[in-house]
Amino acid sequence: MNPPFAIPVVEIIPAPWTAKEVTEKVMDLMKEVKMKPVLLKKEIDGFLINRLQYALLFEAYRLVADGVASPEDVDTTIRDGLATRWSFMGPFQTIDLNAPGGVKDYFERYASSMERVVRQQDNSVILKKEVFDEIHEAMRKETPIHRLPQRLAWRNSRLVDLALHKSSQDLADKRAFAIPAQDVNFAPLHVPSLKQLAHAIGISLKDNFGYVQAKVVDCPDLREWGLIEPGLNGGNRLIDVGGVPNLFDARYNDIKFDIDDIAKKIDLPGAYIIGCGAAHNHAVGQNAELMAVYHTGKNINYSRYSKVLPDGSGYTGKYDAKYFGLLANLYASKGLPGKVIEVRAKVRTGEKNFVTCMREGLIAQVGDSPSEQIGLAGVMTVSKGKVNSHIMPDFKGTNMIPGPEVGDWLKFYECDAGMTTLVTLLTGDPSKKDGNPGMNLRTEHAHFFNDALGQGGHYHFDTTPEEVEYLAYLTPAHHIYRIADAFKRL
Ligand code: ZN
Repeated sequence: MNPPFAIPVVEIIPAPWTAKEVTEKVMDLMKEVKMKPVLLKKEIDGFLINRLQYALLFEAYRLVADGVASPEDVDTTIRDGLATRWSFMGPFQTIDLNAPGGVKDYFERYASSMERVVRQQDNSVILKKEVFDEIHEAMRKETPIHRLPQRLAWRNSRLVDLALHKSSQDLADKRAFAIPAQDVNFAPLHVPSLKQLAHAIGISLKDNFGYVQAKVVDCPDLREWGLIEPGLNGGNRLIDVGGVPNLFDARYNDIKFDIDDIAKKIDLPGAYIIGCGAAHNHAVGQNAELMAVYHTGKNINYSRYSKVLPDGSGYTGKYDAKYFGLLANLYASKGLPGKVIEVRAKVRTGEKNFVTCMREGLIAQVGDSPSEQIGLAGVMTVSKGKVNSHIMPDFKGTNMIPGPEVGDWLKFYECDAGMTTLVTLLTGDPSKKDGNPGMNLRTEHAHFFNDALGQGGHYHFDTTPEEVEYLAYLTPAHHIYRIADAFKRL
């Protein structure tokens, strides 16, 4: 379609004897040069563009010929009406949004009125010279015939502007919600020595487990845990992004956070980022849990996501997008090896889960002074036993009230041992001082994936207190960053 420098669509029409590979190669080639190839399954007179254009032109002609509207008003109806949507959506995508149940609902609702109108559109009509003259006259009011070349140049320049605008919009769809600079806050955390911290964690877990051991060790190679880098050290930052208000308020369900943007906002360019969050519905077709594993510097994404399938079962798989939705509790570092705290606990004797028990035990030891607050991050596994977990189903489409309604909405699963759990934990908010209201921080979050079993989700607690065995590798965070705090809207 002309001009090809501004209109990307290309019709590819293989002959019946064209090898499939040739067609595929041509399609790929077209995509490579940023064209938008469409494939005709068979050859047809007029191909796609002219058949669609003629159908519309014929009706435009008839409306003028039958004295229903002037040529100018027919043009206005398309230019300032239908085509405003058509410039970025096809006719099917358009009607898909024009009935509550989508395209099928649209056809079912309007089939009889559509058929009634279309039956009046007489395609056997003969095009008459006097109608050509009338339309010609109308066009000449705006553009005398000798000015058509200038008008063509004007059209091409408008098309180029439109193509640029559309590609910037496509990019915006793919990227983000850009986070304004003032929506980023951070505060330093207290960083005790690893030895002190291991000791404190040991004390924290003692009331809840029959056997506890916490000590300083060299980090095992966490690439064997399905991660990108061997360790957890270098630049140690916790990041709290968005928040549950983005889930509860349906207007914010599509909010999008770009992982490269996050790495820039925490002042750790090329950061290696792991943690818990929400997968974006644009990436996986519905709301879902995210186990984030990104290396923004190396442009590697090992993230996984878990969603609820239509039959109610859980699905866990690879997550390809470099953006996420709603909220996240992340840990950013350089992924360097080095010393970390190894925690082993088994035989659960108390009611608390592993993470909560550790956090509450630490709180009891650090107190509530803002300058004493500790952050931890790392990985955990249940090597024996089973855990209770949840996966967020798709959005309800309406606002939700925090509380029991959310519990009913979530889907719960029992999952098996051997997972990699990504953990973030905070004893408190180090910014809550000198009248500062604080950063509305989530104090613990743990999501897991188990590639071998195809399981994943949000960790709640183990369901097998007698046989359960926990193993964790944790490191203290030096800073907590708060990005796009969703609670500030409330
Ligand atoms: Zn979660």
